Amino acid sequence: MRNELDIKVTEALAQDLQKGVPILMKDGFHEKESPEEGSILKLQNPSGKFIGKGYVGKQNKGIGWLLTKNENEKIDKSFFQKKIEMAIQLRNDFYTSTDTTAFRVFNGEGDGIGGLIIDYFDGFYLISWYSEGIYSFKDIILEALEASVSYRGVYEKKRFDTKGQYVEDDDFVKGERGEFPLIVKENGQKFAIYLNDGAMVGVFLDQRDVRKTIRDNYSKGKTVLNTFSYTGAFSVFAAAGGATKTTSVDLAKRSLSKTAEQFEVNGIDIEEQDIIVMDVFDYFKYAKRKELSFDMVILDPPSFARSKKYTFSSAKDYTKLLLDAINITEKNGVIVASTNNATFGMKKFKTFVEKAFKESNRNYTIEEEFSLPNDFKTSPLFKEGNYLKVLFIRAK
Ligand code: SAH
Repeated sequence: MRNELDIKVTEALAQDLQKGVPILMKDGFHEKESPEEGSILKLQNPSGKFIGKGYVGKQNKGIGWLLTKNENEKIDKSFFQKKIEMAIQLRNDFYTSTDTTAFRVFNGEGDGIGGLIIDYFDGFYLISWYSEGIYSFKDIILEALEASVSYRGVYEKKRFDTKGQYVEDDDFVKGERGEFPLIVKENGQKFAIYLNDGAMVGVFLDQRDVRKTIRDNYSKGKTVLNTFSYTGAFSVFAAAGGATKTTSVDLAKRSLSKTAEQFEVNGIDIEEQDIIVMDVFDYFKYAKRKELSFDMVILDPPSFARSKKYTFSSAKDYTKLLLDAINITEKNGVIVASTNNATFGMKKFKTFVEKAFKESNRNYTIEEEFSLPNDFKTSPLFKEGNYLKVLFIRAK
């Protein structure tokens, strides 16, 4: 058991925590204090009243996370086990699905422990540690996981160097070593997954519902442009849904072989698809010059990206990105616009859409809206955790 440190926080933070805000914001603490990563804090309001217990784990968002409001609750193996078992229970439908074998088991503060993410890939668990602090609980969290589930193997990603970046390492933890690619299923499609090959495993699980919608309702007989395509997950679903052709564009060289692999494991003929390694902004120019147009254009840029020629920030440049897309979208075509930028919400995102269509003199309707799927459980009092926004826009 580790020591618990009594610590007074500002009235503002005390009130937030009492309401259920899970994050320990830095400015709620007095400057001279800088407790060690992984310390358990007994948080008190300025008059010394107990508010809750949290742990120190510095991330860009704050200095740590609230764990319990119960003064008698110990932060030990059984605490973690209770949280993990509760999270597992909520994902029961995923565990019993034969169609989908990759999903999020534990989503940080949404499941009661900020900084801890656990994903499931067909019998393997992947734990992502977002601070030194949470990593310091590794042994008891592993014991808690083992007491809750049976597994083939456990892998981890340490994401706590200075800016929450991935720490390069052998990511194997225990159990059986996987043979990669591991083939998982998502709504009947397949994905090749690599748990021990750097920061990325090959697919972003949070777009599952969007991919299914693209496949089931929007692809048949359509030409599809997938920009910022990474491993081509959207393209796979579009092709599986009967798209006449998909075009995937990403500037990372690896995206070519990675995308080809995802098509292959799904039995999709890559000769029928285009996979292009190019800067998306150059591709838009090229497409315009060649008078190309598409029935569906998918936009899923990172929040911030700098390439040799361009800098893109989704908060500043999304309207312009939409304008480029509108220019090459057929009449009555669909633009799937996605962003994972947590600094603005859906309302603001829609103003980007409004502006872009106004400028291009075309009308539009929003046909569908998506946020995180339900295995990505969020805390109602931590809006930044609910980062995903996706719109299906019909361009008239
Ligand atoms: N849409 C993908 C995830 C995108 S991740 C999916 O569904 O899986 C962001 C991708 O954008 C990365 O693969 C990165 O290489 C690519 N990227 C960033 N800036 C780019 C640019 N200017 N042109 C093309 N690709 C870019």
